Amino acid sequence: MKRTDHMEYQEGMEIIHSDVMEKVISDMKVYDYTDYRASDVLNVLSKEYLNKEDLKVLLSSAAEDFLEDMAKKATIETRKHFGNSICLFTPLYIANYCENECVYCGFNCKNKINRGKLVYADIDREMKTISKSGLKEILILTGECRSQSSVEYIGEAIKTAKKYFSTIGIEIYPVNSDEYEYLQKCGADFVSVYQETYDMDKYEQVHLSGSKRCYPYRFNSQERALMGGMRGVAFGSLLGLSDFRKDAYAAGLHADLIRKKYPHAEISFSLPRLRPYINNAENNPNDVHEKQLLQVMLAYRLFMPYAGITISTRERAGFRDNVIGMAATKISAGVSVGVGGHEEEMKGDEQFEISDPRSVREVCGAIIERGLQPVYRDYIYV
Ligand code: SF4
Repeated sequence: MKRTDHMEYQEGMEIIHSDVMEKVISDMKVYDYTDYRASDVLNVLSKEYLNKEDLKVLLSSAAEDFLEDMAKKATIETRKHFGNSICLFTPLYIANYCENECVYCGFNCKNKINRGKLVYADIDREMKTISKSGLKEILILTGECRSQSSVEYIGEAIKTAKKYFSTIGIEIYPVNSDEYEYLQKCGADFVSVYQETYDMDKYEQVHLSGSKRCYPYRFNSQERALMGGMRGVAFGSLLGLSDFRKDAYAAGLHADLIRKKYPHAEISFSLPRLRPYINNAENNPNDVHEKQLLQVMLAYRLFMPYAGITISTRERAGFRDNVIGMAATKISAGVSVGVGGHEEEMKGDEQFEISDPRSVREVCGAIIERGLQPVYRDYIYV
């Protein structure tokens, strides 16, 4: 089957004029993470303000021997910018239909899984149940399928969320800036879009069909979201899909360039690693080990001390508890990654297996045990 050109825009996709992608790709290509020594790392650790060259050093193989020093400095920076606050949220999958063929994902359109979506009454019930846990922030997710999960459908879900939550994030298929504007007016605050890998060749190999195959449209999602009036945008790559050090560098640089272009934007990172998923239990989640995941997290904290860092339930409880306060500032709790599942039985299969099934109350307890403060509401509109 002839596949579409992954660098070409598909019908209806908005093209914006931006040089960010070009800058990220060209800089990532010349990044050689084996090219640094211990003295380079120590030099960066002695600096107060870091630039992109310093990020390269902190993500290098050489820096892996300095995790303790990085952690000490990162803890100070996190405390300086976030105090002892750790924000809590939960994701809600309202649909798992997907038109894309990502070879690494359980929702892949070629995978035979139970598909489903919540009707408005279900969405209301699920959100009401979640809100009883005290949470004030929710992340609404769908698979990536416009025909099943239209922008209007997502907009209605956001309006419902507004009844129960003060902060609403969305992790949906990339849309045009006017559609982001509509979703922002419905009540969405921030948008998460992960490039998965910034390596264009690898991107082409693992995104076989669907709208996601278009690399540049996905890349420019955060800019379109900010043009549409969103308050914040999240960045990340799926660590383990390609060369994780280059991908981590590209995501960091991408975020930095967007911050410089849109200084008002709230920037955050997520650092997902590959997880086993339905119909593919062979997938090895250990390709990027915890030590390396921690290195990336600490490097981001030192490079962008004011950026939020989210730690998801892809990681085990012990690891999550250790990184809060050190680098991570936001943690999910009471998680279901199937469609619905908080109030009633799930209406569709799960996207991946989670490693930390703890309830909101249990995660709160773990935060307090570490001398930190669980925060349910971290933003007030006046
Ligand atoms: S990663 Fe996202 S777009 Fe790709 S198959 Fe999974 S849900 Fe669909």
